Amino acid sequence: MSDKKLNEDVSKRRTFAIISHPDAGKTTITEQLLLFGGIVREAGTVKARKSGNFAKSDWMEIEQKRGISVTSSVMQFDYEGKRINILDTPGHEDFSEDTYRTLMAVDSAVMVIDAAKGIEPQTKKLFQICKMRGIPIFTFMNKLDRDGREPMELVSQLEDVLGIEAYPMNWPIGSGRILKGLYDRHNHRVELFEPGVEGRHFLPLDDEGNIKGDNQLEGDSIYDDAKEEMDLISEAGNEFDPDKIANGDQTPVFFGSALANFGVQTFLDAYLEMAPAPGQHQTLQDKEIQPIDEKFSGFVFKIQANMNPHHRDRIAFVRICSGRFEKGMDVTLDRTKRDIRLSNVTEFMANTRENVKTAVAGDIIGLYDTGNFQIGDTIYTGKDEVTFEKLPQFTPELFMRVSAKNVMKQKSFHKGIKQLVQEGAIQLYTTYSTGQYILGAVGQLQFEVFKFRMQNEYNSDVLMEPMGSKIARWIDPEQLDEKMSSSRNILVRDTNDDPLFLFENQFAERWFKGKYPDVKLTAKL
Ligand code: GDP
Repeated sequence: MSDKKLNEDVSKRRTFAIISHPDAGKTTITEQLLLFGGIVREAGTVKARKSGNFAKSDWMEIEQKRGISVTSSVMQFDYEGKRINILDTPGHEDFSEDTYRTLMAVDSAVMVIDAAKGIEPQTKKLFQICKMRGIPIFTFMNKLDRDGREPMELVSQLEDVLGIEAYPMNWPIGSGRILKGLYDRHNHRVELFEPGVEGRHFLPLDDEGNIKGDNQLEGDSIYDDAKEEMDLISEAGNEFDPDKIANGDQTPVFFGSALANFGVQTFLDAYLEMAPAPGQHQTLQDKEIQPIDEKFSGFVFKIQANMNPHHRDRIAFVRICSGRFEKGMDVTLDRTKRDIRLSNVTEFMANTRENVKTAVAGDIIGLYDTGNFQIGDTIYTGKDEVTFEKLPQFTPELFMRVSAKNVMKQKSFHKGIKQLVQEGAIQLYTTYSTGQYILGAVGQLQFEVFKFRMQNEYNSDVLMEPMGSKIARWIDPEQLDEKMSSSRNILVRDTNDDPLFLFENQFAERWFKGKYPDVKLTAKL
């Protein structure tokens, strides 16, 4: 395989995640994208997964749904000469550290916002992770077919709430029942909204930005208003700045309706023009690994446990950072320096055609794992050691006390906890006062997976007592005095033996800061 071919293949890759608050329309938009990619059959599977009104306790059923979820958590398709990988970042009960870590494996993000609701909490959290990574973020203001907030308000919310410059690529002409179309300054045209009419219809603009020739929008006050706003933005708004977009300091904003399939393809086309191909990755050996390096490398960003007790295996999701994956290849697992043959692998090709079945930098592969991999592991080929930077840990917000139901089974309890914590599935803390175990997670699902796996993989029934949400803040051991612990906080140590307080609420944290003004408290990401 020549360099040229690898170069070509890599430059076609666009790997991104869609971030949003539940119900903003992520699933609907994903389905539209899959339809453009010709993955008609697959589109239903996204819905199937979503319709999960399952009882939370019923893991077998969840596993059945998850059978779909495993493959739909990475969706790959071809569109207009590009190979697109969409990584799912679940919301709701599915929310976990995985959701955050998935954002470590993408090259850009699409932020979907419900135009009636504006920016919601989950969007904000996910946005902050993308911002921290400095990746490009594209915004889709969804549900334009309904009455929503004023477009001006939505755009300024991006700046005021998220602190990112906004650059509207198009502007709605009305909304809800009076939605007429999009004034598309990027493509220099008006896109008409014509429900029930096949295909997309455009009216080209002249050099002044007016619609050329006679048209149905002439003299329409809704169009005039939209045009006026767009003119105002062109004069007084932000300048289009590709460098800022590349660093995540400016977000191109698109309007549309996923449900009405309006503006989605316009968005996708513009997105593909602007979104980056896979970039370089920094290593702890102080090297920059280029995606077109012939040597293969990648890192594990997510491990999905198989909930079926008959099949203990798990899937380790690997983002390929360089080179080309070949089935059966031997790689070095950096953490242990042992060689592992990659023979049992899933590729996430939705439209499988044998001749295109190849994975290169930018793609995701799923390794069937029997316990070799941990989150954050690097794998590579070649003699030179490669260790990608550690994946960040996220501050847990939910906590549970945990103990073994059967005191006679302490051994399996400890073994299970140790392994699951190592795998990165959950955080473990030990109280200073009594040495009791406390688990921390960013989402409820992590606890449920933990409980289920303890039972099924380690034959250990656990007792879990919810403690609700807490604020975790680390303290410099030098500054720690155990007397600082009070009824409003719990002093614990993490698995690195670093001390931290779990504060009951912000009030308790503020009270502490007032009492110990010289003590520095830090959060993780
Ligand atoms: P997710 O939770 O972000 O994946 O949201 P879904 O895609 O499941 O959408 C949530 C709800 O909003 C569903 O009932 C969708 O049919 C609806 N929805 C999504 N996009 C639009 C849209 O553009 N217009 C309207 N009116 N409803 C939409």
